[in-house]
Amino acid sequence: MNTYKAMQVTAAGTLQCVELPIPTPQAGEVLLRVEACGICGADAGVIEGMEKNTHYPRTPGHEVIGTVVAVGSGVSSAISEGMRVGVGRLGGHCNECEQCRRGHFNLCSDQPVVGSSQDGGYAEMMIARATGLVRIPDELKSEEAAPLLCAGIATFNALLKSGAEAGDNVVVQGIGGLGHLALQYARKMGFRVIAVGRGEHIQQDVLALGAHLYVDTQKVDAVEAIRKLGGAQVILTTITDSAAASALSKALAPRGKFMVVGVGKDPLTIAPGLMVGNEISVQGAITGTPFEAEKTLKFSLLADIRARIETMPLEKANEAYQRMRSGEVEYRMVLTIN
Ligand SMILES: [Zn+2]
Ligand SMILES: [Zn+2]
Repeated sequence: MNTYKAMQVTAAGTLQCVELPIPTPQAGEVLLRVEACGICGADAGVIEGMEKNTHYPRTPGHEVIGTVVAVGSGVSSAISEGMRVGVGRLGGHCNECEQCRRGHFNLCSDQPVVGSSQDGGYAEMMIARATGLVRIPDELKSEEAAPLLCAGIATFNALLKSGAEAGDNVVVQGIGGLGHLALQYARKMGFRVIAVGRGEHIQQDVLALGAHLYVDTQKVDAVEAIRKLGGAQVILTTITDSAAASALSKALAPRGKFMVVGVGKDPLTIAPGLMVGNEISVQGAITGTPFEAEKTLKFSLLADIRARIETMPLEKANEAYQRMRSGEVEYRMVLTIN
């Protein structure tokens, strides 16, 4: 067998099953036999051609778990054949640029973007930069671990960086792939968790996932409801509707922080008077380093947190992607491979 199967975007719009020659890992790289790959909202960028500078054909997927089957030269001896590892959106830092020298590896300026600037995990095989690899604890199945490498770390790390303390009001806006993990992490971190979402149908889930309180924007004014509770120390916004995200910022308590992990196209608008008068801050957070990803996995095991997933085989990537896009998936879609 000198070839492997991949679900590739050959032109914006659809995924096609292709057979490709198995590549040899170059210096600093490994070859993975992929076992599972989560489907993330960000995959739309390459699948639907919304990202600038995408070169087709391209294999999407950046929540990848697999086994190392070949190791290139110059790779740390900590990585060896047979190891089960993962890689998220950030494809491995360079260790040389200014941000790397500052220790901000997730902000490395010479880092491949998995499933976007390099081929990702909608495939049986994948090349990965060794510095981006995350060790996967034995207790986690591959399909369980996959979504934690993007949706999991994105929300876990944002909550850690938010400065919220035990007992603080923490609002999670948007209850989807990211939000349903954020609720679990926030609850287990000891916050008073307020979920903001749309519609009665998710109320039960939201409370089961860890929210102390559900604010249904179809029924009540969310800003007013949160203010009545004393305001939010942190609002973690996972949605891409920038107008709705901006509107909720009025619910922040003094010195509150607006944590942004949802990537909408439109600018956020936050009243300068509110920012100045209440010393409000706004911060973005992009997933994290492999070390932080391992911490996310360990905390998920410790606190018994998992993504709620649906799985489909690799060959059904089109169907799985459409189901994710329709919003019907509860709550994260994972492709299983090999
Ligand atoms: Zn993602
Ligand atoms: Zn770098």
